[in-house]
Parts: sequence; structure tokens; C-alpha cells
Amino acid sequence: MKKLLFIIFLTAFLKVQSQTPYTILISFDGFRWDYSEREITPNLDKLAGQGVSALSLRPCFPTKTYPNHLSIITGCYIEKHGIIANSFADPLTGEEFSLSNRNTVQNEKWYKAKTFWELAEENGIKSASYFFPGSELKNPKRRPSYFHYYDHNLPYEDRIDGVIDWLKLPIKERPKFISLYFHETDSYGHKYGPDAPETNIAIALLDSMLGILMHELENIDLRDSTNIIVLSDHGMTEISTERVVNIEELLNEYEVKIQGEKPFMLIEPDGDEIDEVYEILKLHDEHYSVYKKQKIPEWFHYKNNNAISSILVVAENGWSLVTNDWLESFNKYAGKGNHGYDNNHFDMHGIFYAAGPSFKNNYKTGTVWNIDIFPLLCEIYMLPVSENIDGKSERINFILKENK
Ligand code: AMP
Ligand code: ZN
Ligand code: ZN
Repeated sequence: MKKLLFIIFLTAFLKVQSQTPYTILISFDGFRWDYSEREITPNLDKLAGQGVSALSLRPCFPTKTYPNHLSIITGCYIEKHGIIANSFADPLTGEEFSLSNRNTVQNEKWYKAKTFWELAEENGIKSASYFFPGSELKNPKRRPSYFHYYDHNLPYEDRIDGVIDWLKLPIKERPKFISLYFHETDSYGHKYGPDAPETNIAIALLDSMLGILMHELENIDLRDSTNIIVLSDHGMTEISTERVVNIEELLNEYEVKIQGEKPFMLIEPDGDEIDEVYEILKLHDEHYSVYKKQKIPEWFHYKNNNAISSILVVAENGWSLVTNDWLESFNKYAGKGNHGYDNNHFDMHGIFYAAGPSFKNNYKTGTVWNIDIFPLLCEIYMLPVSENIDGKSERINFILKENK
């Protein structure tokens, strides 16, 4: 009897395994929601026709790369997964996390939430990542089976070849869930601004990479069994050296620690000077909003974390907050675009496209939220959704094909 039950269970398990689709989650860094309306993205258009396209993807605050990729892959707001900025300090130890420091990006202690790769692997679903923030932790239990150390200059075609090679592995070794990352639209958006012809070239280039990937999937006969999700971590807005507030100058009589980036600043005044510093900043708040930590609006979901300082300043969209030190380099190298601002501002929104066996065909929807992608993936792979996450399946699952 026991043997029979085991065989039934095993057969059911293998059936589910063979039926679970492949999914490739592709991130186009800084690809603003409206870039796909410029008639230079035929492959995204094709994907939209075959599957689901959303008006935009709403990121979390602050609208920066590392924090938002972690929200996408954990389903948690930034205050919960702990990567509160691209670079920040642990207030207890003074240690710094930075996306450009390999030791810190690989150290699991900074990452407080479970990633989808982890959940998938725990449930017997092999996963892989050709670059994605949070995918290269030293602890093998907290990363995908297959991954690569981030190499900004690795040609895009090599990344696609790498993904296709994984999909050509023998079935037992082959990953079912793969993430993939391209930075071009972010780099060009920063340098030339979101509306520049150079940025359009970057947009078209990434679109052509999607075309190559779709073609390669057809060549290995996996196009029909693969979900392709294309999304971005945030948008981009035009900035100018004319729209600058020097915060340090306003606070020149105070000892303050400043973290953050030009679209937002985290300020820690010395001991009992929080109220005074806040009042001075409030007096000059024409082109930014300033909040004491306890009063940061709930919609930011950016409060419940030790590393967030006592005062948060959020620049008006397109304005830059600087210190004396930052000002000189800002004037020289600022470029024409930036992101990191209020996540509800449309300029900060990204894209969301999804097509494949799990998704409805030719279905257009409004804005979806990036924290809901994790529960969406859980639904696709029939994995349990933890109650601790912030994402909600009921806000996004309507884009999936309904079982008839
Ligand atoms: P930012 O525009 O400052 O929010 O960050 C964008 C930059 O993040 C890109 O140009 C990449 O150099 C960097 N980046 C993206 N993914 C990773 C990664 N997995 N590890 C380290 N740096 C990354
Ligand atoms: Zn980014
Ligand atoms: Zn950027």
C-alpha cells in the first residue's frame, strides 16, 4: 500500500515538474514606462500582442536600482528587505553596503528577505541568473543553482548565449526560472537624458536583444513553453545643473551625517539637534519634501528600518540635492537624467510585459506594482506565498490564464 502511494505521489510530482513552464525574467535597467511608445521597440510590441502589457510598473521608494531589484525578487518593500539604497551604512557597526563593493553585495547579512531563487530551489525548482542584484550571495542556499558574478562590460549577446546554454542542459540539470539583466537604457538615460536620440538608440538595442532571445528560444524549440517577462526597475527624468539645492550649505552650523543620492537624502543630525535641523530644512522646502522619520508618509513604506536616518529629504522630480563635495562633480558629470525620486511620479515608473504559456493573450492592463511579481511567480510555480511579504497575488493574478 505504502509503495503504491509513493508511486502515485512520484508520478504526480513528475507530471507537475514536466508541466511547469520555463520563465525568463528580464530586467532592462531604467527603461521608462513610455519608452515603448516611441515606435522603436518592435519586439516588445510583438510580446505585447502575444501576451500581457501593463501601462507601467510602479517601483518602490527610493526608485534606485539595487533596492528595486530586491523588491522585485522578494516581493517586499525596501524597508523590509533591507537594501535601503544603492549604498548605505549600518548604524550599529558603521559598516557600509555598496553595490560597487563585491564583498558587501555577496554578504547575506544585508539581505533580510527570501528571494524567489531561494524559494524555488527549496521547492526543487532549479533556478539561474545571468546578473541580477542579490543573485551572487556566498551562501549557496541563498542563491540560484547557476549564477555569474556581475560584469558590467560583458557583451549582451554572451549573456543571451549563457541563458540558452542553460536551457540546453539535460532536463534534470536545466533551470526552470532564469533572471537576466541589461543596463544600457539606464546608462544612456543618465548621460543624455530620457528624451535624447542617444537614449533611443539604447532603447532600440535592448529591444533587439529581446528579439535575439526570442529567436534563440525558437531555435531550441522552447519558445512555446517559456514565459518571458520583461520589466524595469524604475524610470528616468530629466535633471539640470540649474535645479539644485545645496543641503549642506543650509545646515552649515550643524554636524550632520548625510547618506543617499541626489534625488533623496538621509540626514542624521548630532544627538539632540534633530528638531532644529528639521525646522531649518522645512523653512527652505520649496523644491523638496522633508520628513522626520516617524512622519515619513505611509505610502513610501520607508520607515521601519534602523538604517533609515532621522530625517528624510525627497527632492522634487528633476531637482538634485547636493553637499559641498558633491556639487563640484555634479556640475562636471551630472549628465541629463536621474531617478530615485517619489515612486508615484509617473517618470519613475518602469515597464511590465509578459508572454508565454501562463499568461493571457493580447491583454492590456493598467499600472502593476513591482512587489506583486514575486507572488505572481509563486502562482506560476504553485509555490506557497509567505504571509510576510508585501506583494499581493490578487492585485496581479488576473493577468494569468485561467484554468478551464
Ligand atoms: P543606479 O542607476 O545608480 O541606480 O545603478 C545602476 C547601476 O547598477 C548599473 O549601471 C550597474 O553598474 C549597477 N548594477 C546593476 N546590477 C548590478 C549587480 N548585480 N551588481 C553590481 N552592480 C550592479
Ligand atoms: Zn536601475
Ligand atoms: Zn540609474
